[in-house]
Amino acid sequence: MHELSIAMNIIEIAEEEAKKSGAKKIVSIELAVGKLSGVVYEALDFALQEAIKNTMLEKAEIMINQLEGKAVCLKCLHHFQLENLYEVCPECKHPLCSIIQGKELKINSLLVD
Ligand SMILES: [Zn+2]
Repeated sequence: MHELSIAMNIIEIAEEEAKKSGAKKIVSIELAVGKLSGVVYEALDFALQEAIKNTMLEKAEIMINQLEGKAVCLKCLHHFQLENLYEVCPECKHPLCSIIQGKELKINSLLVD
């Protein structure tokens, strides 16, 4: 399961950060997951709930922010929302665009104690 390894990766990074600041536990963690990152939001949420057991995040509040896909057309420079990677520009139907937002998978903030 793809999302489980991502969840474990996130936990690893979070614990490392927390240990660096001498914290004993993680109170809350805020993640940003782009719609175009290929990560299934519900699956990641579920995987995290399982994976945090017996870690510093066991009692942490987990917030996952979903980021919309945003792109700019390389031909007409029109900005538009991208639901998937294969969409064409809604203005000029040009198939190539540059993705501005939506492929992220990162830790936005971490609150330790
Ligand atoms: Zn266009």
